[in-house]
Parts: sequence; structure tokens; C-alpha cells
Amino acid sequence: MPVINRIAGFRDDLVAWRHDLHMHPELAFEEHRTAKTVAERLREFGFDEVVEGIGGTGVVGVLRQGDGPMIGLRADMDALPIQETLADRPHRSRHDGVMHACGHDGHTAMLLGAARYLAETRRFSGTLVFLFQPAEEGRAGARAMIEDGVFDRWPVESVFGVHNMPGLPAGAVAVSPGPVMAAADRFSITIQGKGAHAAAPHLGRDPVVAGAALVQALQHLVSRNCPPHETLVISVTEFHAGDTFNVLPDTARLGGTVRYFDKDLGEAAIAGMRRVIDGIAAAHDVTMSFDYQYGYPPTVNTAAEAEAALRVAAETLGEDKALVQHPVMFAEDFSFFLQVKPGAYGFIGNGEGSPALGCVGLHNPRYDFNDDILTAGASFFARLAETLCPQR
Ligand SMILES: [Zn+2]
Ligand SMILES: [Zn+2]
Repeated sequence: MPVINRIAGFRDDLVAWRHDLHMHPELAFEEHRTAKTVAERLREFGFDEVVEGIGGTGVVGVLRQGDGPMIGLRADMDALPIQETLADRPHRSRHDGVMHACGHDGHTAMLLGAARYLAETRRFSGTLVFLFQPAEEGRAGARAMIEDGVFDRWPVESVFGVHNMPGLPAGAVAVSPGPVMAAADRFSITIQGKGAHAAAPHLGRDPVVAGAALVQALQHLVSRNCPPHETLVISVTEFHAGDTFNVLPDTARLGGTVRYFDKDLGEAAIAGMRRVIDGIAAAHDVTMSFDYQYGYPPTVNTAAEAEAALRVAAETLGEDKALVQHPVMFAEDFSFFLQVKPGAYGFIGNGEGSPALGCVGLHNPRYDFNDDILTAGASFFARLAETLCPQR
């Protein structure tokens, strides 16, 4: 695939950096070695400013070159609490129970590649702010950086990032305007009934039957209350009740997740859940307590930035490598950046996987970032910076 020649020239370095990060994965807000490595590299490249400790373990690197826009480029650095299972992989994790199973090692290496190229060539006019963020996996590192004032110190006009996607053609970039990833909230419902002998159910108030009715009724919120052209997921993923075959338990506990792109639709879903919970509880003469926790907001790209990113992908990587991004109901904390800044979040294809393993998905103990797409990702970020901050 076409990439920037100069970046192709240091492909081996990109692979070495990625493997080093993969061997030394660190969990959310514990990315001390990773952050130190990133900061050292940026200083080696001749960055004008490198600041560590933004939002915990985040690192910001800045390149300044004349007048022009200030834009942000972001990579996430954290790993997952997963035991890597392929012991013969030379760059396997050296930390038991911790693994780069979401490819953030690759994201960091790609952005470092763009950083090195842009620091060497400086064919742009403006200010480039490289955001190496901590804690994407469930701990909202992006929000931590914002709360730490990252955009007060470096008021970027727009911000961009990509996530690798197994199954998407290797090195292709998919980006679209509008919502691309969902909000991801979680809920827990505790049903308090009254236990009884299983042979005398009329003497108790069965939380299992009430819970079964509730699971069904919650699905009807999606099929009957959500407008057909909108997207809503309510998944009950936990149902805990009882210990043996001849006792109706006192209580049951249900848990799950709600996913949506539109905040108003999310609020309507929550109100609907309360209504259904109250109704089913009354019908079954049990009490139900409802605990709802908001997670990451939806990831919504702004139109101009998404179109610019897609154009850069087509010009840099080839027309056939610039794809439409189909929204998914996974969530991503880049959404916090997009709540306060225009920007675009895309996917970069991780390819179909190896003949031996096939296509291994994210968060799988056999997953690995595809080294063959490092130069494509670095080239995409580099050209994006040069295009949005053209030389004067
Ligand atoms: Zn992940
Ligand atoms: Zn990820």
C-alpha cells in the first residue's frame, strides 16, 4: 500500500517500538514506563515541548512551526488485564496477566512514527499537539486529561485519532461524519421478593419469575418504544438467583448495559426502564431497586473534520483504502475529546489475521496488532497534520 517513503524508511524502528511496548504492557493510569518511553522518544525527535503527567500518566508533545492552526493527534497507551496465551510469540507480554489486547501499543507506535517524521521534515505551518493518553479502557483517561486542563494549555482547534479494527482490510482507514461509536452505560436491578418452598410458591413472592418477566419487558422498550430508524441496545447480561432446586429464593439480581448514539434516546430509555421496573414489580408484588451508571458518551464525529480525514486517507493510502465507517455499539473515551472539540475518530484496518490464527478480535488473549499497518497509520497522521496545517 502507498505510504510516505521517509516513514517506510524507518519501518523497522516502528516495529521495534511496538514490540517493546507490547512486551511491557501497563494497566490504566499505571503507564509509567510507557509514558517515560514516549517522552524520551519525543525529546530525541527534537520536540519543542514535552510535558509528562497530564491527566495522571498522559504525555503531551508539541511541535511549533510558524503561524497556522493548532491541531491535536491522539493515541492511547494502556493495556488490559488479560493473560496473553501465545507463549511462542517473541514479543509476548513479559507481565503476567497484563496484555496489549486492544492494540494501543500499535496506536502509540503509529503516532510516534508521525511525530518523528513531522519533527524531521517540519513541512507544516502551525502547532501540532500530540496527545498520548492514559486509561482508555474503562477509566476515562481522555476526561482526566481534559480535567487537568490539556485544552486550556493547548487550545487545539480539532482533534483526531484512530483505532485498529480486525477484519477491516489492512491499512485501510474508515471514517465518517456523525455518530460512530455508542454510549456505554451499565445498570443493576435488585429484586426483593419472599422465599418459599418450591412446592408452595403461593406462600412466597417469586423474584425469579418477576425477573424473567422484566428481561422480556426490557426488550420491548427497544422493539416498541425506540423509533425504528434509531439505534438502541439494552442487554441483560447477568441474572443471579437461587442456590438449589427446591427453594424459591428471596432475591434476584440482574445487570446489563445500555448502548445508544443519541443522548435524548438514552434518557428516554432510562425513563422507560424505570416505568417497566415499577410496573413489573407491582404486578409481581416484589420490590425492585434500580441502579444506573453512565459510562462513556457516544463518539460523534464533526462533518468537516471527518471529511478532511477521509480525503487525507484517500490521497495518502489510495482511494481503495478510504472507506465508509459503519457505526458500532462499542464505546471509546475519545468521545470526551469530541464533546469539547471538533474532530474525527476513525478505524484503521488490522487485516484478516494470519493463516494460522485467522481473524482474532480485540480483547482476545491471542490478539496482536498488525505490524504491517504501522507505516500506514503513521503516514495518515503525518499527512493529516500537513494538510490541516499547510506550509505558508
Ligand atoms: Zn479496548
Ligand atoms: Zn482500544
